[in-house]
Amino acid sequence: MTSLTDRFKQVYSRIREAEQASARKPGAVQLLAVSKTKPASDIAVLYRLGLRHFAESYVQEALDKQRQLAHYNITWHFIGPVQSNKTRLIAGHFSWVHSIDRFKIARRLHQQRPDFLPPLNICLQVNISDETSKSGVSLGDLPQLAEHITSLHRLRLRGVMAIPAPLTGLQQQRQPYRRLVEAVAALQMTGLDTFSFGMSGDLEAAIAEGATLVRIGSALFGKRPYP
Ligand SMILES: *Cc1c(COP(=O)(O)O)cnc(C)c1O
Repeated sequence: MTSLTDRFKQVYSRIREAEQASARKPGAVQLLAVSKTKPASDIAVLYRLGLRHFAESYVQEALDKQRQLAHYNITWHFIGPVQSNKTRLIAGHFSWVHSIDRFKIARRLHQQRPDFLPPLNICLQVNISDETSKSGVSLGDLPQLAEHITSLHRLRLRGVMAIPAPLTGLQQQRQPYRRLVEAVAALQMTGLDTFSFGMSGDLEAAIAEGATLVRIGSALFGKRPYP
């Protein structure tokens, strides 16, 4: 059986090789470990290997693990759908939210972000695969949402996140990311430094298109018991 340590080494070298292949600086791409459905003990193993950024998709499950790992210096990211009735807990217990696609939710997070915490880092989730069922703001609505969010001073808009429809082949996987990078450049906004692109199956394509942060679950932790 492959251990967490082995998988960590594999993911780490995939990232380093992808950085090299596209002439990115070594270390330019941050590894965000997606620990949803996985126990706090797995997080502790990766923490000892040096990882500090972990992402969760379910609020209650995340809070349980945060309590168990309270003495660890972890930066917590929220990457799941944000429901209105969960914004207060998210605003109080996370440093980053990658899945903002509506102003209403952003405004609640702004209103509920405690004053004693630094601004909440935000990525706008953009739908780049034109699937009406998937969440994410459309490319067309991105400029207006981005503009509105910059007026909320307890939030800090850092960039965009995308989950493209699964495709095989490096060139096919790169295309949706490329379109989004172009759309972000067209915004001509300062302070955007984050492309939250790439998961276990397409991190090479994401890094080739400029990912600054890859969100890796199954390739690190092994298969999940539920989606
Ligand atoms: C679960 C999840 C991931 C990780 O996916 P893997 O394919 O297991 O690496 C990344 N991003 C989001 C938003 C997720 O929900």
